Amino acid sequence: MISSMRGLLTTLRWLFKRPVTAHYPVEHLKIQARYMGFPALLTDNTAEEPFCTGCMVCVRECPTQCMKAVMYDNPKHAEGRSHRRKIIQEFEINLNRCILCGICVDVCSFDAIEMSYEHELASFVRAGARANLETLLSQGRKYMESSGWVPANPEKNVAAVALDKKSTASPVTLLKSSTEKSTEASE
Ligand code: SF4
Ligand code: SF4
Repeated sequence: MISSMRGLLTTLRWLFKRPVTAHYPVEHLKIQARYMGFPALLTDNTAEEPFCTGCMVCVRECPTQCMKAVMYDNPKHAEGRSHRRKIIQEFEINLNRCILCGICVDVCSFDAIEMSYEHELASFVRAGARANLETLLSQGRKYMESSGWVPANPEKNVAAVALDKKSTASPVTLLKSSTEKSTEASE
């Protein structure tokens, strides 16, 4: 009898508390800033192009081998509108195989990829989880807006800043850096 009363009291106590769960998928809990969803590609708005140069470092380091990338010569570099000589042409991540480890983000030195807030990509077809360049960039734009993302190395990776830095560098500095490069190449 006492146990039954205790049980009833516990039920009554919890009856008037706010639920901590949500009726998914009708209701959604707030995504925390630290949340790590699927990886997405970021856009350099100063050159209107992706930060990704297609260097393949993330592709090689991905533990599940779920990424593919193809690069090409960046026409904007030839026109002097970007400091990136190479730019991404095709990029694909098979999100069915992605384990959200974040290694691709850690190894990228071009500020090109981040773990976004995307987590709802269920599909009725197997290939539905293959995110192409367009999808990854659109997810990246959403992430940039919602998180207020800023690049870690703007001097190196943001076209407007890098081009500006290059144009203000003294001729002596430029000569020194080109000499250093040619010495390294001959070694
Ligand atoms: S995301 Fe970064 S590491 Fe991966 S290919 Fe692009 S630039 Fe290279
Ligand atoms: S988060 Fe991990 S598994 Fe997913 S694409 Fe990046 S490196 Fe590969």
